Amino acid sequence: MDASTLIDSFRVDGRVAVITGAGSGIGRASALALAGAGATVVCADIDRDSAVETAADIVGAGGRGEGVGLDVSVKRAVDDLAERVVADHGGIHIWANIAGIMVEGPVLDAPEEDLDRILAVNLKGVLFGCQAAGRVMVGQADGGSIVNASSAAADVPSPNVVSYAMCKAGVVQLTKSLAYEIGRKGVRVNAVAPGFVLTGMTGRYFVRPDGTVDEEMQEAVLAPMRKATPLRSIGEPEDIAAAVLYLASDASRFVTGQVVRPNGGVAML
Ligand code: NAP
Repeated sequence: MDASTLIDSFRVDGRVAVITGAGSGIGRASALALAGAGATVVCADIDRDSAVETAADIVGAGGRGEGVGLDVSVKRAVDDLAERVVADHGGIHIWANIAGIMVEGPVLDAPEEDLDRILAVNLKGVLFGCQAAGRVMVGQADGGSIVNASSAAADVPSPNVVSYAMCKAGVVQLTKSLAYEIGRKGVRVNAVAPGFVLTGMTGRYFVRPDGTVDEEMQEAVLAPMRKATPLRSIGEPEDIAAAVLYLASDASRFVTGQVVRPNGGVAML
């Protein structure tokens, strides 16, 4: 590959991508990045309005996108979306399982309902996405790329978010095992494991119900995060979208079963 081809290998023109959790944060930034690189992007989110908004921003910027409501914890709904996208667009080349939720609390007191809820979205939801996308991709001449959202919480001890960390560690093993199973069919499966990124998930610690920011609280949350990070910085959704684009595109054509860690250095493996 010469240098100009190498840069072009990040483009995803003519590809069809499905991004879950595309209404907000990392999923939204990933949808915009893939669309900017040429993909037709199906933006899926449990909050349909926010997915439609992301798609509208894609179209407004001259790209191709549509927004749909999807609860990733409902297997039938995930399968239906994959079938519908194939019927409408002729295939699926990229599927990013980004949707996720956070549940907090000390492990000894963790209620079973909380565990069931987070497993349903953060682990089963990712598996359902992998199954629906993988079934389509293994039958395609040009294969495909699946990208799963893990977390630095899978790499380091994660007090107070143990069920979340369990799910994210499970995503890593799912990613590796599936990558091994379907690699020979031309389908790559990788994960991104972000460090602390400013999104709705993390902003809720300091964003008031009316949407304004409690700046004192924000600094109280972010200062120790920065201090614990070798790069002394907090991630932005685009920092993770860049990794998603790399993994989705041919730039990573020799990469599968891997965990890419845009985390400011908070975990080094
Ligand atoms: P976010 O801004 O809250 O975005 C997550 C999106 O997923 C939201 O739009 C959310 O909708 C949606 N969602 C929730 N449950 C869903 C379901 N059952 N089906 C479909 N969509 C659903 O969070 P984010 O920070 O961008 O997180 C994206 C992913 O990155 C997550 O998997 C998260 O665990 C992971 N991650 C984030 C960080 C971080 O620091 N932000 C670090 C490591 C990993 P609602 O808002 O309506 O719930």
